[in-house]
Amino acid sequence: MNRVLVPLAMEAAAPLLGAQVHSLEGQTMGTTWQVRWAGHTMAVTAARVRAAVQDALDLVVGQMSTWLPGSDLDRFNRAPAGSVHTVPEAMAEVLQAACALAEWSGGAFNPAAGALVNLWGFGPSPRYTDAGFEPPSDAAVRRAWAHTDWRALRWDAMHRQLRQPGGVLLDFSAIAKGYAVDLVSRRLSAMGLPHTLVEVGGELRGHGVRSGGQPWWVDLEAPPLAPGQPAGPATRVALHGLSVATSGDYRRVFEHGGVRRPHTIDPRTGQPLANGLASVSVLHTECLWADAWSTALCVLGQEEGMTLATAHGIAALFVQRERDGQLTETLTSAMQELAE
Ligand code: AMP
Ligand code: MG
Repeated sequence: MNRVLVPLAMEAAAPLLGAQVHSLEGQTMGTTWQVRWAGHTMAVTAARVRAAVQDALDLVVGQMSTWLPGSDLDRFNRAPAGSVHTVPEAMAEVLQAACALAEWSGGAFNPAAGALVNLWGFGPSPRYTDAGFEPPSDAAVRRAWAHTDWRALRWDAMHRQLRQPGGVLLDFSAIAKGYAVDLVSRRLSAMGLPHTLVEVGGELRGHGVRSGGQPWWVDLEAPPLAPGQPAGPATRVALHGLSVATSGDYRRVFEHGGVRRPHTIDPRTGQPLANGLASVSVLHTECLWADAWSTALCVLGQEEGMTLATAHGIAALFVQRERDGQLTETLTSAMQELAE
């Protein structure tokens, strides 16, 4: 049995008689992007669409990449203790959301967790894939943890000012892809393309309809099942004015001494997640929020995550690994409302 999720309200979308679906793709942020749009070929050329997408992605990378030396984020991370920086507008938008979610989640989501992320081999260097990479000692974790207080950044949204307390490393990898999806989607809409599906590294946002009046249907990424286990229900979403993001313990993970070390860190303990959550998918109108919430709920785990998501009316699907290897699913009521 498949589960189908559809938005509660449908925009009145003009039927696209004779329109075709076009597609472009490329690489960004260490992953891939894909843009699909329904329209008449003559309306907007593929070259113009590619240029607009590239421009939006370059803006996000230039401001928020941990990997690009000289990005605004990289310069902040290297800045001396006590220095105050005016951050560019897009970065400010992301930081504002990230700090709000850090507060709501009691620090489970933390945009200042870069020192811990690096220590566990998930930053630029060292990499957990390097030969001879060893998990850090408790003392090293404690030292890095001392530089992860997002409140010490004294974020001043009004003046877009941020203070480097000394050694704090911002990491927007849990939210910037979602923001990039939003930005690309908005730019395409401003170019006169209302029927689009935008994807960056598995985070998606859909608008309008494809030809034939059908919404953009996408299948949620499902965690792999243990061998011999019956497949759970596949979940299909109509991305009509909706975004979806998934965080999970099965991508970018290493094993050490029989323990799985996924790339998401619980900043409250300084350790990679070990709460048995295989994945969390979140639906939201904004992909920035879908991306950030899916990471936050992953860190919080099913019980705490369900409570916080429910309090904020977030549509979330939790997939938990049980002790016997079975996967069980839990949906918040906002997610249940979308299920047919
Ligand atoms: P995502 O795939 O969106 O869940 O983002 C995971 C990435 O976000 C990791 O590779 C880290 O770079 C970063 N990260 C890890 N733990 C956290 C956390 N607790 N809060 C915010 N970002 C994190
Ligand atoms: Mg995320």
